[in-house]
Amino acid sequence: MQTFDVIIVGGGPCGLAAGIEATKAGLSHLILEMGSLTESIRQYPRRMRFFSTAENIEIGGLPFSISSVKAGRDEALQYYRKAAAYYKLNFKLFQEVWAVHKEGDLFTVTTKTGDRYQARKVIMATGYFTRPRWLGVPGENLPHVSHYYDEPFKYSFTNVVIVGASNSAVEAALELYRHDVNITIVHRGEDFRSTVKYWLVPDVKNRVKEGRIKTVFDSCVTQIDEKTVTVNNLKTGEETQLPADFVFILTGYIPDADLLRRCGIALDPTTNVPVYNKETFETNVPGLYVCGTVLAGIYTEKVFIENGREHAQAIIDHIVGREVHKVAELIDRI
Ligand SMILES: Cc1cc2nc3c(=O)[nH]c(=O)nc-3n(C[C@H](O)[C@H](O)[C@H](O)COP(=O)(O)OP(=O)(O)OC[C@H]3O[C@@H](n4cnc5c(N)ncnc54)[C@H](O)[C@@H]3O)c2cc1C
Repeated sequence: MQTFDVIIVGGGPCGLAAGIEATKAGLSHLILEMGSLTESIRQYPRRMRFFSTAENIEIGGLPFSISSVKAGRDEALQYYRKAAAYYKLNFKLFQEVWAVHKEGDLFTVTTKTGDRYQARKVIMATGYFTRPRWLGVPGENLPHVSHYYDEPFKYSFTNVVIVGASNSAVEAALELYRHDVNITIVHRGEDFRSTVKYWLVPDVKNRVKEGRIKTVFDSCVTQIDEKTVTVNNLKTGEETQLPADFVFILTGYIPDADLLRRCGIALDPTTNVPVYNKETFETNVPGLYVCGTVLAGIYTEKVFIENGREHAQAIIDHIVGREVHKVAELIDRI
């Protein structure tokens, strides 16, 4: 079995950045990705536009040149594919990693189908998008219910219930409303989340005022059936049934804590933030690193491409014993 210098688990922007830095440092590498290249972005709403300007999501120093300021999903997919090809990254797609074990100085990476790969170092760059936050209510796994919003045309002239009140929920609601969809937003809080992009707020609030988008706040979903969603008002206890041909549960995503635990990485029991060195990104397992949004635990809004892409350089610096690149703290994303 070939022993790679570095195996990178996850072929998102941060995993690719790690592959590029490894290549630049002359290290052999393998990227194992459970889906297609940049699978998370491929799963984003088809017509989404990044909130970051294009240069802020570049990797490997390759210019992301587009005619507008912010890229759409397809442009980002093209860009990262070209970056992977330009740097001749070595990846295997549709290989879901199940666990990582260390024996002596070597790591064995095992996939769900039992394939095994060996490396001196391993970088976990598995993001958060494969794990939606489930509500845990009956009916959540019915075929007309999804934790991923895709595109509007399928839903025109139907009743759609969206659960959640953050950016993803608001963006989906506005797009669907503009495609003749009867939208109801259900949220356990009393208003939209304060983190909703400031330019979306007047748009959605005016549509609510006009009655074009309905909101059911202070309420949680208790059951989903084939044609209805049952909600319970948290203040009055009143139960209501909303018509629903389709349901989108857009309440966020969270890194796969079970996977990290199977790799021997210790996690904070409350936040699921892994134990890692803030400068080198090495975890409690020497030679095993976290890179990108996977290290955010429940704080997924704090690590994204803009700052996560920088982890790669610090990690590879540490692996080759150079002075470690200092990663800037970046909290405000707009
Ligand atoms: C709609 C939307 C818009 C966004 N807009 C922006 C923006 O404008 N700017 C910005 O900076 N960020 C943005 N983000 C956040 C950003 O996309 C993520 O933070 C980013 O994808 C993180 O990159 P990553 O490489 O860490 O993780 P990901 O891109 O999620 O990549 C992780 C990869 O690992 C793979 N993987 C997971 N588990 C396994 C396994 N067990 N085995 C093998 N492979 C595995 C996944 O399939 C995935 O391809 C947005 C997010 C969403 C949802």
